[in-house]
Amino acid sequence: MSLLVVGSVALDSVETPFGVKEDVLGGSATYFSTSASFFAPTQVVAVVGEDFPQAHLDFLKARGVDLEGVTREKGRTFRWKGRYGFQLNEAETLDTQLNVFQSFSPRLPEKYRDAQYVFLGNIHPELQSQVVDQVKAPKLVAADTMNFWINGSRAALLKTLKRVNLLFVNDAEARQLTGEHNIVRAARAILGMGPDRVVVKRGEYGALLFEQDHIFACPAMPLAEVFDPTGAGDTFAGGFMGTLAIASQLNTETLRRAMVMGSVMASFTVEKFSLERLREVTRSEIRARFAEFKRLTHFEDLGPLED
Ligand code: AMP
Repeated sequence: MSLLVVGSVALDSVETPFGVKEDVLGGSATYFSTSASFFAPTQVVAVVGEDFPQAHLDFLKARGVDLEGVTREKGRTFRWKGRYGFQLNEAETLDTQLNVFQSFSPRLPEKYRDAQYVFLGNIHPELQSQVVDQVKAPKLVAADTMNFWINGSRAALLKTLKRVNLLFVNDAEARQLTGEHNIVRAARAILGMGPDRVVVKRGEYGALLFEQDHIFACPAMPLAEVFDPTGAGDTFAGGFMGTLAIASQLNTETLRRAMVMGSVMASFTVEKFSLERLREVTRSEIRARFAEFKRLTHFEDLGPLED
């Protein structure tokens, strides 16, 4: 089933304790669509500037990603600069240059309007809303956001949330959005803002799925080497939405499996800088890591426990 993403296609400059990279491929739509492309045909709506290397678009095309909705405009590509300390769970944003995103108004090609699964990647909430306006009858609209928009465009974000079925946030964003420190309370508060499902990502501690009556917890893969967490969240969302888009149903069971596939895909992204690991990963590695997750979390029934 068709999967649509709107988000940033970016040039990132990233500093981690393990190195510095300037103007490398990044952006929420880039990580999302690359990750989702292992599972389902993915359509992208985004804008790049005159300076964006054609080779990056060729890479996405080679992965089967549909770029009809990506336009190239006069001006510079969106740029994000971030830094991570040894505590790799949260990025410190050093600079955000919206550039061509400043005057962007997403227009969906006709064939994108039938999309069943929609992911509103991390961009201005008004732009996210404009995409929802143009999709005819989506089965699931999911969104992501970040502190930049929670602080800077809160009213617009709250409006967008009313039109969203599922929100992806990290724990710091969940706290910031709701004013609740406790994650369970924060998730419940988000469920009162519009979405009926919330995924709270907690970096190396895994992710939690909250539905009205259920919580599902998925660990992160315990990795000995983590180089660059940039894009982990969008890669997670790509694996999650990609597996849902090819599932025969949308229910608690398929959502739980989607949580695991999100975690599988994110575990690859963080192993190298930018999209380097996602470029080389194979479906058989993905299958193997999915099986590792199953072993990682499997345990026997308790059996009798006598008094
Ligand atoms: P994450 O998956 O949360 O690590 O997202 C990382 C990606 O988000 C980076 O590749 C950035 O290019 C992109 N990004 C960072 N800030 C923004 C923003 N304010 N709007 C859109 N995209 C952003």
